[in-house]
Amino acid sequence: MGSRLTLRRRRRTHRLGRKGRAAPSKIAASPPPPPRAGSVSCRSLAGGLVAVFVFGCAGVLSPQGELLRDVFVRGCPSVASVALTFDDGPNGRCTEEVLDVLREAGAPATFFVLGKNVATARNDGLLARMVREGHTIGVHSHRHSVRRLFWRDLTTEDLSATRRAVYEALARAGVPDRPPLTLFRPPFGFLTVAAARAAADAGFSIVEWTVSVGDWEPDRRADDVAAAILARVRPGDVVVLHDGNGTRQRSLERCRDRQNVAEAVRILIPALTARGLRPAPLAEVLGIALTGDAGDH
Ligand SMILES: [Zn+2]
Repeated sequence: MGSRLTLRRRRRTHRLGRKGRAAPSKIAASPPPPPRAGSVSCRSLAGGLVAVFVFGCAGVLSPQGELLRDVFVRGCPSVASVALTFDDGPNGRCTEEVLDVLREAGAPATFFVLGKNVATARNDGLLARMVREGHTIGVHSHRHSVRRLFWRDLTTEDLSATRRAVYEALARAGVPDRPPLTLFRPPFGFLTVAAARAAADAGFSIVEWTVSVGDWEPDRRADDVAAAILARVRPGDVVVLHDGNGTRQRSLERCRDRQNVAEAVRILIPALTARGLRPAPLAEVLGIALTGDAGDH
């Protein structure tokens, strides 16, 4: 049994979701139906490429199928906002520095966290800050394993373990309310049929990105990262940065894993604002509502 990689180009499209709301970004194989006047709000335009990994001969993923109904890439380009997202944390001082910059700038962001990093209990205060300071927490898997994405039960296990780890960390940190935890970004944005099924079953929407500039590359300077983002960013974009490096936790005393991320954000936010691009919560940019979880309480 082999695996097959299919690259599909997302069309810019308006579509209606099955509940009548404007559907999020989707992979579309054929031209979309014309929007009905007055019935479609502008929040469902997609762009860029997404890799769809299909496991097994019978596992062909229909781009218009239900599995991809809640795969998000970007928001509406006619609304002047962008979403800043951070993967691979929480990660000690690196995440703390990012949170400090975001607080100074008054900008919201989304942190796609790894369950294993959360479960160390050394980052509880950072999780609490994310909630208290108005950020969104998403799930980036438990251990950053791509291999597990090929098995539905293992992905389900990962999603559940990460959700549980976040809630336990928040409880330890004295945060009484559990925020909705329904956004999932697979490691490396790697999308498989099995993972899509597991995510849908667990009530997660999958979120990819439109702007990634290799901020993880060694010796990448903060001003280079910010400049590369500013060269590409457009309204409705989802920007990915990294406050950690997989499950390595080497930044307890000082930020060692992603030394320039906070400085890059410090440069980036005022430059975005100067262009009229407001950093906004991911759900707002995507035009969705975050609702309660399916379980794991
Ligand atoms: Zn990652």
